[in-house]
Amino acid sequence: MKSYSIVEPMVNHLSGAYVKGRWLEPAGANEVEVVNPATERVIAHVRQSGVTEVDAAVAAAQAAFGDWATTSPRQRADALRAIAKGLRDRQEELALTITEDVGTPIEESRRLQVGQAVNTFSRTADLLDNVQMHERVGNSLITRVPLGVVGCITPWNYPLYLMATKVAPAIAAGCTVVVKPSELAPLGPLKMAEVVDAARLPLGVFNLVVGSGAIVGEAITRHREIDAVSFTGSTTTGRHLAAAAGAGIKHLSLELGGKSPSIVLGDGDIASAVAGTLAKCFQNSGQTCAALTVLLVPQDRLPAVEEIAVECCRQYEPGDPQIDATRLGPVASEAQRRSVVAHIESGLKQGARLLTGGQAPNTPARGYYIQPTVFSGVAPEMTIAREEIFGPVLSIVPFKRERDAVEIANRGDYGLSAAVWSADEERADHVARQLRAGSISLNGASTNPDAPFGGFKLSGFGRERGRFGIEGFLTTTAVHR
Ligand code: ADP
Repeated sequence: MKSYSIVEPMVNHLSGAYVKGRWLEPAGANEVEVVNPATERVIAHVRQSGVTEVDAAVAAAQAAFGDWATTSPRQRADALRAIAKGLRDRQEELALTITEDVGTPIEESRRLQVGQAVNTFSRTADLLDNVQMHERVGNSLITRVPLGVVGCITPWNYPLYLMATKVAPAIAAGCTVVVKPSELAPLGPLKMAEVVDAARLPLGVFNLVVGSGAIVGEAITRHREIDAVSFTGSTTTGRHLAAAAGAGIKHLSLELGGKSPSIVLGDGDIASAVAGTLAKCFQNSGQTCAALTVLLVPQDRLPAVEEIAVECCRQYEPGDPQIDATRLGPVASEAQRRSVVAHIESGLKQGARLLTGGQAPNTPARGYYIQPTVFSGVAPEMTIAREEIFGPVLSIVPFKRERDAVEIANRGDYGLSAAVWSADEERADHVARQLRAGSISLNGASTNPDAPFGGFKLSGFGRERGRFGIEGFLTTTAVHR
């Protein structure tokens, strides 16, 4: 265990509603405690909004829509660049805030939590020119128009970045937004509202309402004046939300859970494959929807893979997420730790072989830590091979023939991402083309932020990122002459 310093928390009482350029005092008295998962200390109290604030936010977004929808792409791109600059100027502060709120190691916070949010705003501004807004088809002029007022509902694992992947393309498309971040990690989103405020967008284009899923999330999803809902979160909530949004015939996109396979073919470089898979599996303590959490390896290479995996885990000693060198922080909450531990226990009970980890480390005494954990000899039907664990747990599944690996990978309920490793890129590509997953990396290639991202099956539908993200917030009109 690395050395650990407890930073004395600053307990702020924050308002959870930014509507039409003003911070509202929510009518209800409810406050939620925000807990630093590395210290278990309360670092803030956030006043929870209710239906009154949702109504005010939706009214503001509706009132702003007409004018915003008719601004030029250049004006909207300027607004996005101003937000990107505001986020960049506060990058270190934002990174630290998210590290305190979620437990993400600070280096990952800078790069993934905040860096990707900055890039999303600036890149979306650049890509606006690539979206074709008009097209002639016979005697018709097809025009792409924004969907309207969008409810953006986001989870706690990447509170700023996942908000950016919705807000940037939505306002680029000419939509106005009501954002509901997770009540479990609201501090980054609240600061993002400050950044948007400083960027001086027309009032009502961006509104943010912090509150519970059951009250604020439901109110947004069912609101008559909301045209579209863009949701990232669990499959369970997504299923419920899809039914509610369906009742109102709302445009919907769902980015849900994943259980993503990493397939090592017979000729694959196992050292790179294991290291690359673990890096994705343990990113943000495993709390990443696209995490590679199932490593499929040829039976005859299993002993070598196991040895390398155990060795690699030594680089992921859990530690203080505020220290630059830390690669594995705590999971985000006590509830999350309990859920991960329950999955580990199910792996043991169902006969998987624990190679390393499997429990909370002894030190420090506080914090929701879990050791990096690897199971081997995992059968595809075991719970740890099928369910999203959202913790630092890898399951190694052996296979006999290449087509068995494809069959196992496609058998699951999810289809968000995957990886394939082979010395022969054609062979890797051949396997990749058979996988039902939205985003597939060959031999550790990094994901392209301009490429579309989204799932199959219980991972949801709709595509985010790049120009595909902007297009997701557009529909068409046709005028015939
Ligand atoms: P996670 O555990 O990853 O946060 P959830 O699906 O529980 O996933 O939550 C994602 C987001 O959905 C959060 O902002 C949460 O408050 C919100 N949410 C939860 N329940 C509902 C609901 N019934 N309707 C709308 N949003 C909800």
